[in-house]
Amino acid sequence: MIGASQRAAIVGAGLAGDRCAFGLRQAGFEGTIALIGAEAVRPYDRPPLSKSVLKTIGAEDEIFYRSESDYAAAGIDLMLGRTVVDASLREQSLTISTGENLAYDVLVLATGSRLREVDSLPRGTEGVFYLRDRADALALRTALDAGGRVAVVGGGVIGLEAAAAAAARSLPVTVIEPASRIMGRACGPIVAAWLTERHQNAGVMMRCGVGLASVSRKEAAYRLALTDGSIVEAEIVIVGVGVVPETSLAEKLGLLVVPEGIVVDGHGRTSDSSVFAAGEVAFHYNSRIDKHERQENWFHAAAHGEHVGRSIVERGANYSELCGFWTDQYDVSLQSTGRALAEHDVVRGNMPDGRFVVFHLDGDVIVGASGVNVASELRQAKALIRNGTRIDAAKLADPLVKIGAATL
Ligand SMILES: Cc1cc2nc3c(=O)[nH]c(=O)nc-3n(C[C@H](O)[C@H](O)[C@H](O)COP(=O)(O)OP(=O)(O)OC[C@H]3O[C@@H](n4cnc5c(N)ncnc54)[C@H](O)[C@@H]3O)c2cc1C
Repeated sequence: MIGASQRAAIVGAGLAGDRCAFGLRQAGFEGTIALIGAEAVRPYDRPPLSKSVLKTIGAEDEIFYRSESDYAAAGIDLMLGRTVVDASLREQSLTISTGENLAYDVLVLATGSRLREVDSLPRGTEGVFYLRDRADALALRTALDAGGRVAVVGGGVIGLEAAAAAAARSLPVTVIEPASRIMGRACGPIVAAWLTERHQNAGVMMRCGVGLASVSRKEAAYRLALTDGSIVEAEIVIVGVGVVPETSLAEKLGLLVVPEGIVVDGHGRTSDSSVFAAGEVAFHYNSRIDKHERQENWFHAAAHGEHVGRSIVERGANYSELCGFWTDQYDVSLQSTGRALAEHDVVRGNMPDGRFVVFHLDGDVIVGASGVNVASELRQAKALIRNGTRIDAAKLADPLVKIGAATL
């Protein structure tokens, strides 16, 4: 597998693809590595797209993981602005949008996710903004700088970060979330309620529990009719209703794919022994929880990408990461690790002051934690979550008791 004549092809030059390429080299892969990406620019960080890039001109130039010479020095052939449109398992070759064919011995699919779209608000329509790539962020920043009323469809992480960026410009902002609360998948009810209030304090109109019924447009203004009969008018409509795994190539190859992504084992191997999948596109086996899962966050894409690259060369342990995410909204840095939805929650710290952790417990076992502006406590909690530690809830809630001393 690691001979110098071996050819590795990685489809998708995002975070997982980048880490996979370097993981291969770090583990001693001596063959050629082609990193093929549909976007015209080299791999870059997406989290700043809804944070610093929406705020500051020039921030978009600071988001690249590495320089071009870093890839050249590692012998990684960057093939950018190219989409892999077809592939053959039998011939072990890829067909690229430019008409080129590329042969491989080992193939990694790191194709990430594509945006879920709202039919009545198509991506690319004037005044409608989605947020997945660098070009999306630049277009939205230009629109926010020009000003107007803003409607955000979807109260998830990306929509709320965009709402905060708009509110920071003193634009009128309405967030429309059909569920009864914001960030339904990413955080628990306590943090959601606290964050809702933080947005309201910034002047954002938070409309939870109402969906979008229909959309019309008169001149520059969109008229969003909501399911409760109310109307929201906006010149700028930001849609953040989630993503789906980009599995189209895997499906063409006939690999085992489920709605959660491409099914892979603890080393990233798909149902075909010469094809691997890494990052957000993979429905991967995690030995820590002894089941398959899909993760949509930076930490996972980085860790899984590297793990798969290394596993191709040296078959080590199964993937076992405990991941989490962070979001920055206003002066709030929210970090979460493990599972945010559990049987009950324990709060530690000062919620009105905006420095607290919510621990998530099943019975007396800590399964997750969400911290607002308290990075160090979250780090301590991570070790307990990883070990499935049993906790005394009363001690955990007491800031005078060290987190490590709250175990049973
Ligand atoms: C705006 C934004 C903000 C975010 N903020 C945070 C945050 O604060 N915290 C956090 O934890 N996570 C955040 N995330 C999520 C995190 O960035 C993703 O989980 C991570 O980027 C996933 O990496 P990936 O490499 O698996 O997939 P992707 O980043 O989706 O990369 C996949 C790449 O593959 C390419 N591709 C797909 N199909 C083909 C093909 N057939 N041929 C060639 N190329 C192809 C795509 O163009 C894309 O460049 C954010 C994401 C976005 C979009």
